[in-house]
Amino acid sequence: MSNSVSEQPAELVARLRATFRTGTTKPLTWRTGQLHRMRTLLTEHRDDIAAALRADLGKSTSEAYRTEVDFVIREIDHTLDHLEGWLRPEPAPVPAHLGEATAWTQYDPLGVVLIIAPWNYPAQLLLAPMAGALAAGNAVVAKPSELAPATSAVLARLLPQYLDTDAVALVEGGVPETTALLEERFDHILYTGNGTVGRIVMAAAARNLTPVTLELGGKSPAFVDRDTDLDTVAARLAAGKFLNAGQTCVAPDYVLTDPGTARALETALAKAVDTLYGPDPAASAEYGRIVNDRHFDRLTTLLDSGRQVIGGGYEREAKYIAPTVLAEVSPDAPVMQEEIFGPILPIVEVAGLDEAIAFINDRDKPLALYAFTESDTTRERLTAETSSGGLGFGLPVAHLTIPDLPFGGVGESGMGSYHGRYSIETFSHRKAVLTKPLS
Ligand code: NAD
Repeated sequence: MSNSVSEQPAELVARLRATFRTGTTKPLTWRTGQLHRMRTLLTEHRDDIAAALRADLGKSTSEAYRTEVDFVIREIDHTLDHLEGWLRPEPAPVPAHLGEATAWTQYDPLGVVLIIAPWNYPAQLLLAPMAGALAAGNAVVAKPSELAPATSAVLARLLPQYLDTDAVALVEGGVPETTALLEERFDHILYTGNGTVGRIVMAAAARNLTPVTLELGGKSPAFVDRDTDLDTVAARLAAGKFLNAGQTCVAPDYVLTDPGTARALETALAKAVDTLYGPDPAASAEYGRIVNDRHFDRLTTLLDSGRQVIGGGYEREAKYIAPTVLAEVSPDAPVMQEEIFGPILPIVEVAGLDEAIAFINDRDKPLALYAFTESDTTRERLTAETSSGGLGFGLPVAHLTIPDLPFGGVGESGMGSYHGRYSIETFSHRKAVLTKPLS
């Protein structure tokens, strides 16, 4: 596959486009064949991928399976089960003024798709969009993150052994390689990462009127209502927050709650972290590490943004930062200025729901909003009065494991979506067709 160093981006894209033009990628059998092969790759090499994820991010094997390898397998299986139905042309009623005629919509593949992935779930966020683009009948150029070099290398080695190298290519590299790719004309670009680079990608795409899907991040709030079962809330919050050492785009970034609930939640969170990782998380095989020194140094400057309830410890050599909960955090504190993307959970106090809604709406639209409440009215108000990519009541992070839900952001957290049939919509053109008999 074309990670061959000799092949320049222009040649590569021309070669894949030539394959696309032959029609090779369009039949259902080619699409399902590629999905089956990707599935075989994942089952035969799950341990190689898990080892790479451990090297890049200190991920435990169980977390690597659950959030990367098996996640993509489930996405593939769901697509294989439904693809034929999703691709079926959809009839449209024809108005009377056209007389005898039929009309329908059908999905056309777009052509050559570029997928640019980040480092935090470096296998899942490359392969899940790729599965969707292949299922939609496209050729694909996949660009893994250079900040997860072991995962990038293992995928560069394995993908060509399984997938159709005439139509699928993986290009390793960093900013220069991505910049060079972005000089080329693609038919769609899906970028996952931060908003600064998202703007670079969108500007490059604009030169060719290439549509983009931007899967970005931001600060995802978690509102905790009065009178909830705080042991359950804390267990779920901690599991979602400290997964992958907090380096999850849909992790609860901070908690909003009233002062009384905040005090009780502090205790419950300390207990939840102890249950998850034991008294010394550094010794837990389940707890991950920070991806690199730059992020480590950024995160350690945030550790005194509030009163430390638990955690606060770190070790630079090991890129370890303890799961940390900060209480009585001011909205002006450094930790509240940007997406944390690490294992620090600030609790910000608000008087109640009205203030929480105002707090959320005063800031960028988040990728996810979470709330823990027993009140239907609170659920209804949050649903109606806020905007976010996804909305989770009672359980953070898990909505993106439901393949029939679109995964994507809104505003600063991104545009467009994918997963399941939403990947088919994203990576296809829905063509309008009219046919009227000549006689
Ligand atoms: P990153 O640094 O790995 O960058 C992502 C990709 O962009 C890489 O492939 C990289 O090579 C490329 N890139 C970096 N700089 C570039 C440049 N100047 N020009 C062209 N390409 C460039 O990842 P990151 O941005 O640090 O990822 C973290 C962010 O991603 C967080 O904000 C997180 O919330 C977000 N995220 C979003 C999702 C989602 O699905 N919405 C998922 C994961 C992460």
